[in-house]
Amino acid sequence: LYWNFQQIYSMFEKFFELIFHKPMTGYQRTWARRFLLSKSFTLVAPTGVGKTTFGLVASLFSALHGKKSALVFPTISLAQQSFERLNQFKSKIQNADAIRILLFNSSMTKSEKEEFEQRFLSQDFEILIVSSQFISKRKDVLSKMFFDLVFVDDVDAILKSSKNIDTLLQMIGFSEDEIEKATERLRSKNKENGQDTVSNGSKNKGMLIVSSATAKPQGLKPLLFRELLGFEIGRFTFNIRNITNIRIKNKSNEKLLEIINILKDGILLFVNTEEEGKEIVKFLLENGIKIGATWNDFEKEFEFFKEGKLNVICGVSSYYGKLIRGIDLPSRIKYCIFWETPCFRFLIDMDKAPRFVLERVFVEYLDNHPKLKEYFKNVEYLQTEKLRQLVSKYISYEDYSKIVNKIFSHLKLTDDGKLIIPDVPTYIQGSGRTSRMFGMNLTKGVSILFEEDDTIFESLKSRLMFLLDEEWIDESEVNLESLIMEVEESRKSRNEDFNVNDT
Ligand code: ADP
Ligand code: MG
Repeated sequence: LYWNFQQIYSMFEKFFELIFHKPMTGYQRTWARRFLLSKSFTLVAPTGVGKTTFGLVASLFSALHGKKSALVFPTISLAQQSFERLNQFKSKIQNADAIRILLFNSSMTKSEKEEFEQRFLSQDFEILIVSSQFISKRKDVLSKMFFDLVFVDDVDAILKSSKNIDTLLQMIGFSEDEIEKATERLRSKNKENGQDTVSNGSKNKGMLIVSSATAKPQGLKPLLFRELLGFEIGRFTFNIRNITNIRIKNKSNEKLLEIINILKDGILLFVNTEEEGKEIVKFLLENGIKIGATWNDFEKEFEFFKEGKLNVICGVSSYYGKLIRGIDLPSRIKYCIFWETPCFRFLIDMDKAPRFVLERVFVEYLDNHPKLKEYFKNVEYLQTEKLRQLVSKYISYEDYSKIVNKIFSHLKLTDDGKLIIPDVPTYIQGSGRTSRMFGMNLTKGVSILFEEDDTIFESLKSRLMFLLDEEWIDESEVNLESLIMEVEESRKSRNEDFNVNDT
């Protein structure tokens, strides 16, 4: 399967270069992966990084494989422009006659309009190019058609009407009934009791790709996207990244040493505690690795790392840790290694539990106690201390433990009564150091995680998948040499860009 994906990916890569005469940018490579994995997603990126170009190429690629696309633009003139670019691209393809492109333009003559109408209704096209306005005007017809791909350029314009969202979803095959039910689920907000909200029912559905420079839509309807397609617009504003995550199940010093010797340079090593870190650093130093640590003289060690006198720098993985947040060195930092998943560990004792646990327990409890729920109905926010008091006042310790166990059943409970929850934001922040946007380029990074515990790993993996759509590769499937090449390549072109912009 993996090999097949690589083949399709390199086919797309070649196709892009054939019709555009330039390689994809880092952003575009990330989007290409998702597109080829048939995932609906949002392209949140500033203007000028190649969103529209990507959408055009994707629709042509789909057309060559017998699939129908609709491209939706905020204005007619943008639709017209894209129509022209698309035809220019098309002229580079051999045997492109089978690709029929249909444009709606309000300034067409009467006979042109009639021809459009006839071709539109009989679906005599592979690619349909329209404006947002067309979506609302012709929703009755569009909602009954099926498109394998709907690409909405600049989604903000179209989200102004919530009816448009229904139409877009219908265009990729959702029924009115499915949309209605999802809306209901969102209204009732009673999600904790139900199944996981992200529907997996998007099989046999088309793909919806929406682009936005700043997407921050308001209201209930945009949430439908998440409910039905598993993504949400504008909520998670992590930077775009291109990172391969690798898990190594067997945690041993020797394996760590071996990996570091293969990667050689530009490595951040994250440990959970300073104590553990000191031991590992000692071991690596004894084995000839040039490694520094943040608990020594941070400024000095970091300078050495920057200059290349050190190959590895070790630090504690906590959200505000120096290595996690404080540095931005896209050309130097290529790899990170987590010596265990960053985790929160706490007793399931209500006096020690963090706020988010108390909150979830309290909400769960209220759901089963309507009178109490009524009483707290207008309360927006409770201080942590107040929450703690309420939890101990209303909820017996036994009930509390039961609820905690139920809510966090997929997480790990240790023998001494501690609950372990992977600290996903810290993993994201830490690994994010290896993949940064630089001009038109996104540097490629690799994040290696040593984790022996399957429960903790699965939990991290599923949340990362939900938040970033990022996948994991097992150690056994990995070809480190080719990854290293990709990492180096992405930094080479970065330097060229840098020079061009700089002079
Ligand atoms: P966006 O829709 O994000 O604003 P566009 O697709 O309009 O971006 O692209 C912006 C500019 O960058 C255009 O001039 C386009 O030709 C150019 N461009 C797009 N993709 C690439 C690429 N892979 N390499 C070089 N230039 C590109
Ligand atoms: Mg654009």
